[in-house]
Amino acid sequence: AKEPVRVLVTGAAGQIGYALVPMIARGIMLGADQPVILHMLDIPPAAEALNGVKMELVDAAFPLLKGVVATTDVVEACTGVSVAVMVGGFPRKEGMERKDVMSKNVSIYKSQSSALEQHAAPNCKVLVVANPANTNALILKEFAPSIPAKNITCLTRLDHNRALGQISERLNVQVSDVKNVIIWGNHSSTQYPDVNHATVGGKPVRELVKDDEWLNGEFITTVQQRGAAIIKARKFSSALSAASAACDHIRDWVLGTPEGTWVSMGVYSDGSYNVPAGVIYSFPVTCKNGEWTIVQGLAIDEFSRKKLDLTGVELTEEKELAYSCLS
Ligand code: NDP
Repeated sequence: AKEPVRVLVTGAAGQIGYALVPMIARGIMLGADQPVILHMLDIPPAAEALNGVKMELVDAAFPLLKGVVATTDVVEACTGVSVAVMVGGFPRKEGMERKDVMSKNVSIYKSQSSALEQHAAPNCKVLVVANPANTNALILKEFAPSIPAKNITCLTRLDHNRALGQISERLNVQVSDVKNVIIWGNHSSTQYPDVNHATVGGKPVRELVKDDEWLNGEFITTVQQRGAAIIKARKFSSALSAASAACDHIRDWVLGTPEGTWVSMGVYSDGSYNVPAGVIYSFPVTCKNGEWTIVQGLAIDEFSRKKLDLTGVELTEEKELAYSCLS
């Protein structure tokens, strides 16, 4: 039998956390043969709710779940974890400036970076979900210099999956037959959902949809604004789809992407496709042996070029703002 893997979820008493922990305990993230020990962290005001989540995990009697650590102590939470899913963050409240949210969250990620660096398992894989996800991940990376940059990522898989969902609905095909969409850039409204290399059953999506106006317009804005549409409908932000996407992200990273398929991940940019280096930027990646590689050599047309640049400029500005908040 395999040794259990310790998986950290921060903000575990929140709504994404509540959807995510049972998925992990059922083997959806790491596989149906991989036992897990869940480490759940939250802040003291959420301690009682966190304990309630722990009680429910016990009550669910998950066969793969070999232990639960529910704590408000960041060192205890980070100790020995091989996977860290960072969901905890200060929510944007009405009337709050972008800079105020940024300031709160980057300081949280700065302080958690040292606990991870010192106490997590070597080679721990980190996924940041809390917004601003790309920039929180960058701060985590910069303040945990001993964690390899390739181990720190942010979630754009939900946006990727939303793009697959929109194409599948439009063409009335199985979502599993839609492949190789790309989310470029920031997990924000400047993200660029790109279908220029996407296929269904091996045929280009553009040839099948035969409606460039929709693909270059409403399709993009629907994916970009899907989060707001969910809040409007549900009165809460997306949680089950965010949790499911987090599982997809880690599963593909650890177990590999299927041959001929790529996924979108926010990763430390090396300047591929002439986007800014040194920010966490979402690229098409393939994964093998626990490592991601940016897919190279895709043709970028003029329309796409502008969009890749725009979201890159936003990330550079966010990086500057984050540093000004920290100093
Ligand atoms: P959620 O579980 O709904 O969301 C958590 C974070 O994920 C938010 O930052 C949210 O950003 C972000 N997020 C990223 N992508 C998505 C997406 N597609 N849909 C929805 N959210 C997304 O928030 P809750 O408030 O329910 O839970 C947060 C938890 O974090 C609480 O338990 C709280 O106690 C804890 N917390 C921890 C702190 C710390 O560690 N110091 C500080 C503050 C809170 P957005 O707000 O933009 O939707």
